[in-house]
Amino acid sequence: MSPANPSTREMERINWMEFRELVPGRITTVLLPLGTLEPHGVIPNGTDIIAPVAIARAIAPVVNAMIAPVVPYGFTGILDAYPGSFTVPEPVYREYVRAVLVGLAGNQFKNIVLLNGHGGGQTAILSALAQEVGRETHTRILVINWWSYCSDVVREVYGEDGGHAGNTETAVVLAVEPELVKKDRYTGPEMATAIPAPNTWSAYPFPSSILLYKEGEGLPVFDEARAKDYFDKVNRKIAALINETTAKWDLAGL
Ligand SMILES: [Zn+2]
Repeated sequence: MSPANPSTREMERINWMEFRELVPGRITTVLLPLGTLEPHGVIPNGTDIIAPVAIARAIAPVVNAMIAPVVPYGFTGILDAYPGSFTVPEPVYREYVRAVLVGLAGNQFKNIVLLNGHGGGQTAILSALAQEVGRETHTRILVINWWSYCSDVVREVYGEDGGHAGNTETAVVLAVEPELVKKDRYTGPEMATAIPAPNTWSAYPFPSSILLYKEGEGLPVFDEARAKDYFDKVNRKIAALINETTAKWDLAGL
């Protein structure tokens, strides 16, 4: 495969003739970011959109991929009562994302990488869809929930576990659009709640928009240098997973 040198890697910014020259001859992988709108403490409601888009832009040249337009609306759970939030009913979301995946397969991508920015029920929907659509279209589909996959990176850089709208997501927004982090609005740990252990309690709406995976850990940290270090390490780890996975698919002859 000759090295690709596209004028852009973003599918909405390229014309059909250049696309035809690149895919599938020189580029066989596409990155599809998926997010949702939900509250995130003092960082944007669209952090789940901003983060996977930023990761996609950072790693696309490293994994020689195109970047598909983000699927911004998602399947939001216990936080959708907060102002500016949004959820799409599950069957609608599932069928819409399925159509997007089938469309990417139809555009002759061999590898489809879902960069998911949102947890809750969305992760289960996406991993089920990956299997169904991969089987139906004979494409190879990898789903990455970046914050979970990089839970060792947050321990390495911050010395503790992460949290929704806490250290990890704040770091990504600080690394790419620091002006969107409203540090002055952060008053302290009372803005956060630890995720309850299974079968202990649940609440709708959830009482805080900052959710800690472990009590007392994962609160937002407003340090740009550390944020950039974390973001770089996340990008490296995710790019490595994509390259290793595609190499193993090739090795297995899939
Ligand atoms: Zn988030």
